[in-house]
Amino acid sequence: MSATAVSSLSWRRSDAVDLAVRGARALDPRAGIDGIRDVVIRDGEVIELAEPGGADADGMESVDAHGLLVVPAFFDPHVHLRVPGHEHKEDIETGTRAAAAGGFCGVLAMPNTDPPVDAAPAVEALRRHADREASVPVGFLASITRNIAGQELTEMAELREAGAVGFTDDGWAVPSGRVLRRALQYQRLVGGVLALHEEDHELSGNGVMHEGAVSAALGLAGIPSIAESTMIARDATLAAYEEARIHALHLSARESVEAVAGAKGGGVQITAEVTPHHLVLTDDEVRSLDARFKMNPPLRSEGDRQALIDGLRSGTIDCVATDHAPHAAEEKEVPFEAAAMGVTGLETAFPVLYTELVLPGVLELELLVERMTAGAAVFDFDCPTLAPGSEANVVLIDPEAEWEAGDEGWESRSENSCFAGRRLRGRVLMTVAAGQVAFRQRSFAMGVAA
Ligand SMILES: [Zn+2]
Ligand SMILES: [Zn+2]
Repeated sequence: MSATAVSSLSWRRSDAVDLAVRGARALDPRAGIDGIRDVVIRDGEVIELAEPGGADADGMESVDAHGLLVVPAFFDPHVHLRVPGHEHKEDIETGTRAAAAGGFCGVLAMPNTDPPVDAAPAVEALRRHADREASVPVGFLASITRNIAGQELTEMAELREAGAVGFTDDGWAVPSGRVLRRALQYQRLVGGVLALHEEDHELSGNGVMHEGAVSAALGLAGIPSIAESTMIARDATLAAYEEARIHALHLSARESVEAVAGAKGGGVQITAEVTPHHLVLTDDEVRSLDARFKMNPPLRSEGDRQALIDGLRSGTIDCVATDHAPHAAEEKEVPFEAAAMGVTGLETAFPVLYTELVLPGVLELELLVERMTAGAAVFDFDCPTLAPGSEANVVLIDPEAEWEAGDEGWESRSENSCFAGRRLRGRVLMTVAAGQVAFRQRSFAMGVAA
């Protein structure tokens, strides 16, 4: 068994970009950058953050970016690309196009596909597939247990050597403490992170929404908050005992934030993420019985939402992740109880959080940028940065642009966005990922500098 297994990202190689972004507000809180600058990218690398007009960019493609914002492109550690087996919902090409359109320069794909990604050849095949089709770098997680059945561990060392960036049975918890304990022992040996969908399935039962006043009023079966927090407490205790490293996926409840804070305070190697929809919406939306508001974990109460915002602010929650979960229309356009769980999120993540949390003064823009890039570090990748000398992973945003989510359709193959039709401020104009132009808004023009 090798303790030095590789983990890596895969994408379609194309021309390295040469570009001067002139006069934008360049903001990278991690690197201490905030000011009006000319950002010069040459051969796919940020080479200079010059005073306006001071860059040597003759002959380069140039963008007049006055009034615009340039920040490190985002990194999403939790998406579902649906390959193999559910290509009618999404595939690597459409999913990474959606990521690029949302300003992401990297995503990590979950293994709950059909069949699940539970053996080395499957990881290798996905990486070759991404080499041909991915417009932004993609990493693939493998499952913790064979067939995501919760019983037998996968060959974690082989999976790491094949390039799996981590392990998860996302969609399901690992119900058996004995099985998870063994997985933690292997994690310590082979590296990678165990990313855990935290849910006691006996407590959540056949619930379809948050258990609370709204579920009672609607007469729908509820999923109690403690279905999540009790599992986090168990898993953090096991991780501490085995000195292993875990990442709690998609926190949704106040008790969960408290459980993660307690574990971190006790020295457990635990990180956590939260989705835009849990930060912005509550179970009140479910009164509409619109299945676009059905996901797992469910939208919870206003108190839970506030606790998640506080957790993100304090650093108890390390990063934002979309849990982009595309579904076909026929799986959503059915009665609420019968609908599939999950929502798309890549194309709306930044504008939704900017509109709903930054503009009203709830979160600082600096903090949002930091938390939308920090998912890379959770999985041992370098965080995207504007620092000169770095590979260009940059997103150009018009912070004043107003638009209606979905008004021009989606890059994703699926349309199950819980934000469709919402008026948003802030629009991604261009995304550079791994030194290549990954996305450019149709209406967005450039010239060549004289
Ligand atoms: Zn999950
Ligand atoms: Zn997920």
